[in-house]
Amino acid sequence: MEIQSVPARAAQLEIVKNQTASPSDVVVTCGESWKCPVYVRQMPPCRNECPSSEDIRGYLTVVAAAEYQKKSPEEALDEAWHILTDKNPMPATHGRICPHPCEDGCNRKNKSDGPVAINNFERVVGDHGLERGLRFKKLTEKVRKERVAVIGSGPSGLSCVYQLARRGYPVTIFEAYDKPGGMLRYGIPSYRLPDKVLDGEIKNILDLGVELRCNTRVGVDIPFEELCKKYNAVYVAIGAHRGAKLNVPGEDAANVFTAADYLNRINSGVKVDLGNKVVVVGGGDSAIDAARVSLRMAHKGAGDADQFDTESAQTVLDSARVSKRLSHAEVAILYRRTRAEMPAIGHEILEAEKEGVRIEFLAAPIEILTQDGRVAGIQCIRMELGEPDKSGRRRPIPVKGSEFTIEATAVISGIGQQPDLAGGLMELANQWGWINIRNNRQTGLDGVFAGGDVLGLGISSRSVGEGRKAAQAIEAYLNGREYKPLPMIRPIKETHLRFDYYKDAPRHEKKSLPAEERIRGFQEIYQRLTRDEAVAEAKRCMSCGLCFNCDQCRIYCPREAVSRDLARPMGQVMFTDYTKCNGCHICSLICPCGYIEMGMGL
Ligand SMILES: Cc1cc2nc3c(=O)[nH]c(=O)nc-3n(C[C@H](O)[C@H](O)[C@H](O)COP(=O)(O)OP(=O)(O)OC[C@H]3O[C@@H](n4cnc5c(N)ncnc54)[C@H](O)[C@@H]3O)c2cc1C
Ligand code: SF4
Ligand code: SF4
Ligand code: SF4
Repeated sequence: MEIQSVPARAAQLEIVKNQTASPSDVVVTCGESWKCPVYVRQMPPCRNECPSSEDIRGYLTVVAAAEYQKKSPEEALDEAWHILTDKNPMPATHGRICPHPCEDGCNRKNKSDGPVAINNFERVVGDHGLERGLRFKKLTEKVRKERVAVIGSGPSGLSCVYQLARRGYPVTIFEAYDKPGGMLRYGIPSYRLPDKVLDGEIKNILDLGVELRCNTRVGVDIPFEELCKKYNAVYVAIGAHRGAKLNVPGEDAANVFTAADYLNRINSGVKVDLGNKVVVVGGGDSAIDAARVSLRMAHKGAGDADQFDTESAQTVLDSARVSKRLSHAEVAILYRRTRAEMPAIGHEILEAEKEGVRIEFLAAPIEILTQDGRVAGIQCIRMELGEPDKSGRRRPIPVKGSEFTIEATAVISGIGQQPDLAGGLMELANQWGWINIRNNRQTGLDGVFAGGDVLGLGISSRSVGEGRKAAQAIEAYLNGREYKPLPMIRPIKETHLRFDYYKDAPRHEKKSLPAEERIRGFQEIYQRLTRDEAVAEAKRCMSCGLCFNCDQCRIYCPREAVSRDLARPMGQVMFTDYTKCNGCHICSLICPCGYIEMGMGL
C-alpha cells in the first residue's frame, strides 16, 4: 500500500479541482468551494469481525481518552464495561477464551507493531466489572406481560435472557444439568476459564430477575409442547453435546470415551481413570482440551489423588515424586489431516504441544485393541491428502499397508458433537439432526426461535451474538413487528487511514505459567495485563472511522473554519463553519482515522 504525503495528495486534488470546477460547483457562501467536509461515522473492521458485535472502538477510546476527559481510570473502565456489556454480558469469560477474530480484522495489523490486543483488554474490563461489583443497567423499568422460555443456559441462552430481561420480559431458563453455563462450564477446562469467573458473570445476568430451572431436560423432564403452550415465545439454545463415535471395532470397551462426555465428567468433579497412555482422536477444540486435561489427570494420578485440588494442586503435590512418575505419562492426538487443516484454535494447539501432547498428523484409527474388555492399544493407518472435499479441505485417503499400533490405556474420541434432541424437540431437526432457522430467526414452528451451536458448531462469541439477535427477533414477534436482519456494512479499510500519524507502540501480550508448572494442576494459565498495559493498549487503537479529537483538522485548516468543543459527545467534538470553508480538502487529507469525507456539494 502506498501512503501519499498530505502535500502530494493535496497538489493532485488541486489539479483535479482546477480542471473540473465551474460556477455551478459552488455550494457555500464563500464562493470557492465545490465540496465541503462531512463527518462520516464508519464501521471499524474489528467490530465487523466480532461475532457478538461489540463496540470495541467505543470501549477502547473511552479508556484512551480518560485523562483529557478528566475521568479517573476506574470511571473510564466502568464506562468501558457498560459499553462492552451492551452487546456481550460476559466479557471476563470471552476475554479469556475467545479466539479473537476481531484482531484478525484490526486495521493496526497493517502497521509493523501488530493489531490491538483487544482480547487481552476485554479481560481487563471484564475482571474490573467483577471486582467492582458492577451491575447491568435495565433499559426499562416496565414489566412486560409476555413470558419467554429459553432452553439451555450456555452463552447463547444467557445472552438471549440478558437482552430480554433488561427490556422487561419475564424469562425462564430450562437447563438439563445442575449448573448453568453450557460448554463454558462442562466443556472448557478451568485452567482456561476458572469457575469463579463464569459463576460471577452468570450471577450478574440472573440478578436481572431471570428464573433458572436446573436439572430439567426439556423433552424428558418436561414436554417441549408444554413450553410452547405456556410461553409466548421459546428460544432453543441447547448446543451440541452428543459426542460423535469413531465407528471402529472395539469402541464398546471400557475406557473409551467421547471428548464431550469425558470433559463433562471431569468438569463435574467425577473421577475418571485413564491410565497413563491416552490417545485422543480428532483435531478440534474438544480433542485439544481432552488431551490437555488427560495430561493433567495423568499427572494428578501420579500424585495423591485424594489431596488434589484444582486451585492449589501445585502446592499439595510432592513434586519430586510426581515428576518421577510423570515421565511415564503420554498423551497423543491422532489427526487424519495436517496441522494446516486442524479446526482447533491455533494457539491452543501450540500450547498443548508445549505441555507435552504429541500430535500424530495424517493418521486415523482403524481398530481399538482390547484385553479383558479394556483398551490395550489402537491400530492406526497413515493417510495422505487427496482432492478437496465439500468442506474445502483436502480429503484424507488411507495409505495401503501403512498400519501401525500405539499402546493405549484409554481412547477419547474428539471428532465432533451433535445436538442431543429429545421428545418434541426432535420435530425441529433437519435430516442431519441439526436445527435450521429462517431470516426471522424462527424455526419451522411459529414463535419458536433457535441459535448457537444447535445450528452448527461455532465459537462462544457467535452464540452470544445469536442470542442477542434472537432476543431482538422475539421482541419484534411479541410486538407484531417484522424482524429484519441488519444490512451488511462495509468496514473502513486501512487505505483510508494515515498510518504515519500513529506512533509505533509495542503490543502487550499476556504472560503465562511455564508449561511444566501448568500441567501439575488446573490453575489458570494466563495472567491478565496490568492496568497500565491495558491503558497503553487502548491508546494503540487508531479509532478507525470515528473522530478521536486529535485536533489535526483544526490545526491545519487554512480558513480557521474548524472548531472543537470537548463537552460534546464522541464524534461530534469537531465541527466546521461552512460559511468559512473553501473546500480545500486539507482536513480530510490530514484526518488520520478516515472520519472526514469531502461529501457536501456536487
Ligand atoms: C471442549 C470445548 C472447548 C471449547 N473451547 C472454546 C474456546 O476456547 N473458545 C470459544 O469461543 N469456544 C469454544 N468452544 C465452543 C463453545 O463452547 C460453544 O460454541 C458454545 O458454548 C455454544 O454455546 P451454546 O449456548 O449454543 O451451547 P452450549 O454452550 O452447548 O449450551 C447448551 C446448554 O443447553 C443445555 N441443554 C441441552 N439440551 C437440553 C434440553 N433438552 N433441555 C434443557 N437444557 C438442555 C445443555 O446442558 C447446555 O447447558 C469449545 C467447545 C468445546 C466442546
Ligand atoms: S468477543 Fe471475541 S471477537 Fe468479540 S471483541 Fe471479544 S475477543 Fe474480539
Ligand atoms: S485500530 Fe481500533 S478501531 Fe481500528 S480496527 Fe483496530 S481496534 Fe478497531
Ligand atoms: S481544511 Fe478547512 S477550509 Fe479546508 S475543507 Fe477543511 S474545513 Fe474547509
